[in-house]
Amino acid sequence: MRFYLPKFKLAASQPPQDRLVSKLGGSPWGFPESRWSTCSDCGHPMSMVAQLEHAPPMIDIGVSGSVLHLFYCANLLCMSYGDPSSCEAVILTCEEIGTGLTEQPLNKDGERVVNDEIWISGWDAYDDIVTAEQIPSFYDEQIYTSLPEDTAHPYDFDLAWHTKAGGVPYWTGHGVTLDPAHTPCPSFELLLQLHETVYLEGEVAIEELADASINLYQHERFGEASYCVNFANLGTGTGFVFINRTASPPLVRWHWSP
Ligand SMILES: [Zn+2]
Repeated sequence: MRFYLPKFKLAASQPPQDRLVSKLGGSPWGFPESRWSTCSDCGHPMSMVAQLEHAPPMIDIGVSGSVLHLFYCANLLCMSYGDPSSCEAVILTCEEIGTGLTEQPLNKDGERVVNDEIWISGWDAYDDIVTAEQIPSFYDEQIYTSLPEDTAHPYDFDLAWHTKAGGVPYWTGHGVTLDPAHTPCPSFELLLQLHETVYLEGEVAIEELADASINLYQHERFGEASYCVNFANLGTGTGFVFINRTASPPLVRWHWSP
């Protein structure tokens, strides 16, 4: 299957944002505050996990110019923490996107959790050994566990491959964590998955970073030392994002799994 690995750069090492860019974390560009997702359980405004422009074939949201927003409840004390009900997806048309960064509303304690901000600077295409006929096997726990190991986990559990767009889900050690009643595949299929640890391209001028709170460290990727960032708290795990492009407008649902 063809899939795409995003290339990342730290927003803190870029000039101030003056336009829409596809990114993880931070504050969304031009997002109407009235549309901000609030957790149905604890009532906290959710934290943005990603703002992604329609960019086929990598990010195909089905409608040209549309922008996908992923939110989750980052309140560790929330009863829904980690539950699919604490994960929201909002697709806006380009007409609904304004200008300027939209700050996350404060919760009732006057606080907010904003994830570390990382911009997507490009994509690389890859092909794994999974065939189109094997796709349904990745959505059925019983069939999935009987797949050969190198098919079920084409790159073992290497984190560098756990943030990608397209192809089949590379599940964590918890296996198929999808609730078929909530997200039936088909009609849903994988849009992308996001590990909480992402790798940055090239060198990082750490001494130039104004925000010292960024959770940045070095880790080996593809045999080379690379900087990576734990940009969000997904239980040391991965968010899985699915899209139903047969719905009009397309429907996106996501959840995360340790
Ligand atoms: Zn909550």
